[in-house]
Amino acid sequence: MTERLTDALAQFPATEKILLHACCGPCLAFPARQLLNEGRLFLAWFHNPNIHPAAEHKRRLDGFWAITQQYGIEAEADSVSDPDPWVSWTGTSSDRCTMCYERRLSAVARETARRGLAGFTTTLLISPWQQYDAIVAIAHEAARKQGVQFLERDWRPFYREGQQLARETGIYRQRFCGCWPSVEQSTFKDKIKRELSALSASPESSDNGHR
Ligand code: SF4
Repeated sequence: MTERLTDALAQFPATEKILLHACCGPCLAFPARQLLNEGRLFLAWFHNPNIHPAAEHKRRLDGFWAITQQYGIEAEADSVSDPDPWVSWTGTSSDRCTMCYERRLSAVARETARRGLAGFTTTLLISPWQQYDAIVAIAHEAARKQGVQFLERDWRPFYREGQQLARETGIYRQRFCGCWPSVEQSTFKDKIKRELSALSASPESSDNGHR
C-alpha cells in the first residue's frame, strides 16, 4: 500500500486494538487484509440497520462472515434491518444519507467506548459511492461525544482492489447502497426488486444479526 491521502490511523499505535466498522463484506476485504499486514489489533463489527429488506441484510451479513472467516479475524455483528427511518424520510436524499451515517457511526462510537477501546474507523471510507467528507465529519463528532478517536484513512484508491478480493472470495457484491430509497435510485431497480422479492420468499432469508 503506497498511496495515502489522509491517514490518522497510521499515527495510532498498532498494538492498541481498534474497532473496524464494516458496512459489508466487499468493502471489508481490502481494509481487513491491510490491517492484518500492518500487524494491527482490531475487531470487525457489522452494524447496518440501513440495509433493506431483511433478506438483503442477511445476504450482506453472510458476506461479512465469509470475509472475516477467510482472514481469520475477530468479528461480531449487532445489526437488524430497520426500514422505518429510511422509508419515512421526507427530506433530500443527501440529508437522508447524513441521517444514515449519523445513526451508524454514533452506534460505532458508542460500541467503541463500551468496549473500552480508544478508536474506530469504518470501511465506508473505501467506497467512491459514499460521501467521504460527510462521513469523516460525522465520525469525528460521534467520536468526540463518546471520548474516543476516529481514525481516518482514505481507502478509496484501493476500492477496485478490494472488489477484486471480494470477487475472488465469491461473495455477493451488491448493486445498490442499502436502503429502500436507494433501490429506487438504482438504474438496475427492476432487476433488484425482482431479486429481492425472490430472496425474501426464501425460508433462509432471515437472520437476527447478532453473533
Ligand atoms: S443511500 Fe446509502 S448512505 Fe444513503 S441513506 Fe441509503 S443506505 Fe444510507
